[in-house]
Amino acid sequence: MAIWNLGSINIDVVYRVPHLPAPGETLAATEVTRGLGGKGANMSVAAARAAACVAHIGAVGADGGWTVDRLMEYGVDVRHISRLPSETGHAIIAVDQAGENNIILYSGANCVLDSDMIGAALASADHGDTLLMQNETNGQAEAAQMASQLGLKVVYAAAPFDADAVREVMPYLDMLVLNAVEAAQLSDALGAELQDLHISQIVVTCGADGCDHYDNIRKTRAQYPAIKVDAVDTTGAGDTFTGYLVAGLDRDLPIAQAIDLAMTAAAIMVTRHGTADVIPDLKDIEDFKLA
Ligand code: AMP
Repeated sequence: MAIWNLGSINIDVVYRVPHLPAPGETLAATEVTRGLGGKGANMSVAAARAAACVAHIGAVGADGGWTVDRLMEYGVDVRHISRLPSETGHAIIAVDQAGENNIILYSGANCVLDSDMIGAALASADHGDTLLMQNETNGQAEAAQMASQLGLKVVYAAAPFDADAVREVMPYLDMLVLNAVEAAQLSDALGAELQDLHISQIVVTCGADGCDHYDNIRKTRAQYPAIKVDAVDTTGAGDTFTGYLVAGLDRDLPIAQAIDLAMTAAAIMVTRHGTADVIPDLKDIEDFKLA
């Protein structure tokens, strides 16, 4: 089976600065790095590193050819990534000496996706494949509707959180993945507890506290403690978790095993600095389990 990930691709430009800039201040950065980012790209890389067959549906501008090359090097099918006249989405990230950051995000090509292009990609999908989506592109509701008509499983990571976006895709979802803050926001916005929503499966990640799985068909809730590690950088942990979770489910692992795999990958991830480029692969996971 395959995973079709309708997702963002960003250029992350990270500036190391002595302190975060104040209004009107011009600040000299001590270092700059440019890398592949975006929740969508991170999840594609994670799923590919988990040995899933993953096709990315998205767009970049003329300045983003290298990001597509990078995804391809990680084993992601890039045939459904369009080249558009807009700029590639990018994040300008300032990180101070204490690791605090602020981020300016420009969605660029990620939010001008053409629905025909999304439709053409999904038309190549097979019954039983999975559509994965986040909230950093346009086109989720249409894609979810089409995918569910085609017999795909639809998984949505509700980040960055937008209650209206969740409402729109909710009728088509097989699984919703969100963090604890987003889960509270969703309950508030809908005036309902997670176990009462009409979504079959909901996974709530809770950082160092692990995650909860709500099976709203069986009416059960299971809590999974996180794997204990010394965390140095939690960037990308949630994306790694979701990419691995979907990859595990795609190869028909029972949910508890898929969650264990996802938590192991995310635990390794928080011990590393960086995002897409340091997402662990299955060999890393095997080594971690043996250690
Ligand atoms: P989050 O997006 O912060 O909720 O994190 C996603 C997943 O990453 C969690 O469900 C955990 O499995 C894992 N994770 C995050 N932070 C830590 C940590 N400090 N130690 C171990 N695992 C973590």
